Amino acid sequence: MTAVIEVSCINCDMCVLECPNQAIVMGTEHYQVVPELCTECVGFYDAPTCIAVCPIDCIYLE
Ligand code: SF4
Ligand code: SF4
Repeated sequence: MTAVIEVSCINCDMCVLECPNQAIVMGTEHYQVVPELCTECVGFYDAPTCIAVCPIDCIYLE
């Protein structure tokens, strides 16, 4: 699985700073997750930290 950022992302930067794998990068209009880099935070946090910090809940696991 990988984290996925929806188009409703407001580019607030919160998740970018928290990702332990630098897996969140700016796309054409909003941030997106590089699937090859996302480890769902295993080994760092008990749950995906990007999902925990997103103020508008626009990240999900797929
Ligand atoms: S789940 Fe963890 S590793 Fe994956 S993008 Fe979010 S913060 Fe980064
Ligand atoms: S925390 Fe949510 S709204 Fe903010 S940049 Fe990340 S995905 Fe977008």
